[in-house]
Amino acid sequence: MSSPAIPAQPLLSAQGLRKAFGPQVVLDGLDLEVGAGECVVLIGGSGSGKSTLLRCLNLLETVDDGQILLEGTDISDPRADVDAVRSRIGIVFQAFNLFPHLTVLDNVTLAPVRVHRVPRAEARARGLEMLVRVGLADKAAMLPDQLSGGQQQRVAIARALVLRPALMLLDEVTSSLDPELVGEVLGLLRELRSDGMTMVIATHEMSFARQVADTVCFLSGGRVLESGPPEQVFTAPRTERLRDFLAALT
Ligand code: ADP
Ligand code: MG
Repeated sequence: MSSPAIPAQPLLSAQGLRKAFGPQVVLDGLDLEVGAGECVVLIGGSGSGKSTLLRCLNLLETVDDGQILLEGTDISDPRADVDAVRSRIGIVFQAFNLFPHLTVLDNVTLAPVRVHRVPRAEARARGLEMLVRVGLADKAAMLPDQLSGGQQQRVAIARALVLRPALMLLDEVTSSLDPELVGEVLGLLRELRSDGMTMVIATHEMSFARQVADTVCFLSGGRVLESGPPEQVFTAPRTERLRDFLAALT
């Protein structure tokens, strides 16, 4: 798959990230760069820190050390405007976390209206536009539990997109779905990628990683141990740890 041209100045640049939970060091001097329009896929064993990294990038966790630059601004600075950062960096989790008592459309427009002061009519228009984009315009007035898991996850993706983020973080977004529903969500991510959305995706769907990634990053020992285009990482791993990881999948 052809890669989009990646500008010299990365959209996101994380340097020397360190994060420990008590005595357990999860991120140990991790570096990561994401160019505008790039799709970076994080792979690594369970507990290798993929979710922790995404949560740090979205400021859901504070790093103990290191720096995160978004479009040149240091968002790891304690004085950073967290709401502003979260409108630039959207995140979607394994669990959809939709509000069960709100309609699909209200779930999508809640943050723009409540947190980002977007006028209600404009939020509604943008929300509907995003529901069209994820193929759920006809479900706007329904409640989440009237939707399949795959549809609920697409609502969660629309909810993140409605803030017009520069970067989307996706953490194992198909892991809680029944196998027959995985395809519709992966298909949507493929579309977002071809629309040029910058994404960092943690996944254990290796065939998907291979298809969508511009760059695959293998997390091990709290760092990106190896990274490169998927054909290199999957077919010519350089480290024993990555070879072992890949061998254990088959
Ligand atoms: P992955 O997503 O790659 O499976 P995680 O980032 O979820 O890995 O977890 C990395 C390690 O950090 C795990 O050992 C996990 O138990 C630990 N961890 C993650 N979040 C917390 C937390 N809030 N408190 C304590 N330990 C945590
Ligand atoms: Mg995880």
